[in-house]
Amino acid sequence: MNRPHVLISGAGIAGPALALCLDRFGFAVTVVERAPALREGGQAVDFRGPVHRAVLERLDLWAPIHAHRTRASAIVLLDPAARPRVTLPAVMASGDVEILRGDLVRILYERTRQAVDYRFGDQITGIEARGDAVAVEFERGAPATFDLVIGADGLHSNVRALVFGDESRFLRHHGYRIATFALPNVLDGAREAQILSVPGRAVGVFPTSPEGARALLIHAGGPLTRAERRDGGELKRSLRQTFAGMSWVVPRVLDALDRAPDLYVDGIATVHVESYSRGRVALLGDAAYGGTLGGQGTSLAIVGAYVLAGELARAGDPGAAFARYESMLRPYATGCQAGARRAGSFFAPRTGAGLWLRNTLYGVLTGPRLVGFFERLVKDAATDFVLPEYAVRWAPGRQALVSS
Ligand SMILES: Cc1cc2nc3c(=O)[nH]c(=O)nc-3n(C[C@H](O)[C@H](O)[C@H](O)COP(=O)(O)OP(=O)(O)OC[C@H]3O[C@@H](n4cnc5c(N)ncnc54)[C@H](O)[C@@H]3O)c2cc1C
Repeated sequence: MNRPHVLISGAGIAGPALALCLDRFGFAVTVVERAPALREGGQAVDFRGPVHRAVLERLDLWAPIHAHRTRASAIVLLDPAARPRVTLPAVMASGDVEILRGDLVRILYERTRQAVDYRFGDQITGIEARGDAVAVEFERGAPATFDLVIGADGLHSNVRALVFGDESRFLRHHGYRIATFALPNVLDGAREAQILSVPGRAVGVFPTSPEGARALLIHAGGPLTRAERRDGGELKRSLRQTFAGMSWVVPRVLDALDRAPDLYVDGIATVHVESYSRGRVALLGDAAYGGTLGGQGTSLAIVGAYVLAGELARAGDPGAAFARYESMLRPYATGCQAGARRAGSFFAPRTGAGLWLRNTLYGVLTGPRLVGFFERLVKDAATDFVLPEYAVRWAPGRQALVSS
């Protein structure tokens, strides 16, 4: 029996996680990534509650993630005069275990690079259904046919644009933008993350070590324009302008922005597609149900990869597998997306009154009486899923699909 051959677009989190699962089930996998190399930027990403833990254990990722875990720390919310107002417990931002996105990208890639055919610096330019196969054209590589194509190429998915339609139909912008980049620890060795908010703007510094940190800049604003997407220099200039005049360590953060090699900027948006699949093409991760910030995009991408691969291995028929994957994932993903809708206004309420309200509310919620309730609350959406067991034997020899 020929091994079914799956083409995945995108080597972020969802793509390599799916490659890992599919390879174990006996599929042949090719991953095409537009960037010339792995994109290792981004804030720390976290996993929380028993569902995340179970999926990571089943994929043998729990131990390596722990080995690279960051030191989870509380987050101190500062008022416009840089005075501490509220201390959020570590679990809110860091869950049970937290790892820099770049470290996770590398772990997933290292785990799959031997078995999976990775093609960097290329992308899909055409997708056409041909009976039981999909004919694909590439910007650089030769055309080829695959059994299935999966779009795991992020919020602005190329596969989604080619097969489902323009992103303006699916992307719901929530009125804010975020920017993140690595910088020296401008908090002078402090361990706790700190966020300064003024109406409509927030600057956070998240130490990753005594020497290093990651900056998180959030401000009220519309979606990025195509010109901004193309011109990193223009983005840096506009961020400088937007955050000019803020006190505290913000001038040092903006100096570091000029030198940032790994700037990541996007609008805070959620993705809403009518269906996660069409024919032999399906969407996974941010491409299907992304949320930018606060929507647990990374853990959702891994749970989604596990379910999608399991269903494909179990069903044999891709239509049935895609339908079951969607029926399981959609309610879970929709629940998690609620966090993304609230993220901008949590970090940077638009008015002074909003800022006061946030600080007062979170002051109460994180006080000694309610902190247990608060910790349950921040894990709620993540735990609202029953992880399926797949009665499919893992196939370490990758000879064929084997169901029991
Ligand atoms: C560099 C970077 C930094 C990030 N930082 C943060 C952060 O700080 N906070 C946060 O909440 N989320 C961040 N994200 C998003 C976060 O990674 C996702 O929400 C989540 O992990 C789900 O992952 P994903 O694989 O679906 O999407 P992503 O991690 O976005 O990965 C998508 C991959 O697809 C690739 N791609 C895009 N277009 C094409 C194309 N045409 N052809 C082939 N490949 C393509 C991208 O280069 C990328 O490698 C970041 C994403 C990236 C790429």
